[in-house]
Amino acid sequence: MDRLPQPADPSSGDTEFTVPGRFQNLFPIGIGAQGAVCAAMDTVTGRPVAIKKLSRPFQDVTHAKRAYREIKLMRLVDHPFIIKLLHAYTPQTTLRTFCDIYLFTERMDTNLSVVIGNRLDHERLSFLVYQMLCGIKYLHSAGIIHRDLKPTNIVVRADCSLKILDFGLARSVGTNFMMTQYVVTRHYRAPEVILSLDYGTNVDIWAIGCILAELITGQVLFPGTDHVDQWNRIITTLGTPTAEFIARSSQSARRYIETLPVYPKPQFDQLFPDSAFLAVEGSGTAGLNNHNARDMLQRMLAIDPLERISVQDALAHPYVNVWFHEDEVNRPAPVPYDHALDEQELTIDQWKALLFQEIQEIQNLTLGTGTEN
Ligand code: AMP
Repeated sequence: MDRLPQPADPSSGDTEFTVPGRFQNLFPIGIGAQGAVCAAMDTVTGRPVAIKKLSRPFQDVTHAKRAYREIKLMRLVDHPFIIKLLHAYTPQTTLRTFCDIYLFTERMDTNLSVVIGNRLDHERLSFLVYQMLCGIKYLHSAGIIHRDLKPTNIVVRADCSLKILDFGLARSVGTNFMMTQYVVTRHYRAPEVILSLDYGTNVDIWAIGCILAELITGQVLFPGTDHVDQWNRIITTLGTPTAEFIARSSQSARRYIETLPVYPKPQFDQLFPDSAFLAVEGSGTAGLNNHNARDMLQRMLAIDPLERISVQDALAHPYVNVWFHEDEVNRPAPVPYDHALDEQELTIDQWKALLFQEIQEIQNLTLGTGTEN
């Protein structure tokens, strides 16, 4: 595959990075909700790394809790399609002065949003979908529903290998922790979430369906401007959901849906016509064709989660099963995530103490006594 373009300058130039001297050649590559990300070279291993500096991680309980959850989750997982935490570091040596957290991960080339707009053939499209599916299947096996899959949360290499980033918003399956509306980027938000219904692991399938559509067309599938607009876009494109689905909705959602016109179900070959695809029919790997891509999209983008394809079935679908690799699809589940950690009601200072302890532990394990620049 051709070299992928780099993300735009994240203007993280004014964020100072203080890291052990073994990490050299730092340059900014991204900016996220938690802070700036730099690329660097680890001169000890000779490997490229990404360094994320959590900016003001103790500014409030939400940030501190999120940082703690992310670090705990990253330490737990071990899957080729999920980003690995290589090291964590703080230049401060006491809890009193502790204020900066650096997280070091394997470095990829760019995030998936940068790839959108480059037309990809079926081999690449399906390989990207396969990797996302394996990654979320593994997370689900640990009791984690991602809920915030979006192109900027997925990093890729030029060879089309991919890793899922960011666990800050992931919360465990089966907790009664109410999912707040701001949690998921609206464009990839599943209908059951928009309507505040019960949700399960296949909220992540909806997001992957939206991402696949976006990779094909170069356009966000449902670029809603607000909550209501998001829902309207979904039903005008995919048709009014079934009476059974509406009956399962809350009273207020039902009332709202009933005020809207009835929209017909679309033909997927009109939504995603042959001209939307790059590949020429009949060439390449068997199963990787427009028909199967559309079939996958249709199953992933079922408004009713009960009709939506499961992760397991999606992995068996002819559009992705060509990539099947036992160790990637059925990797043993990690130790289940202890969701009680997320639910602790602690003060900022208590979170800070937990984080300090965690960072020091990782730092001792992975960096020994790193020397500062
Ligand atoms: P984050 O704060 O983790 O959401 O990251 C923000 C952005 O930084 C991502 O969208 C990527 O563009 C970039 N980035 C983060 N981690 C990596 C990595 N390991 N490899 C390459 N780019 C990364």
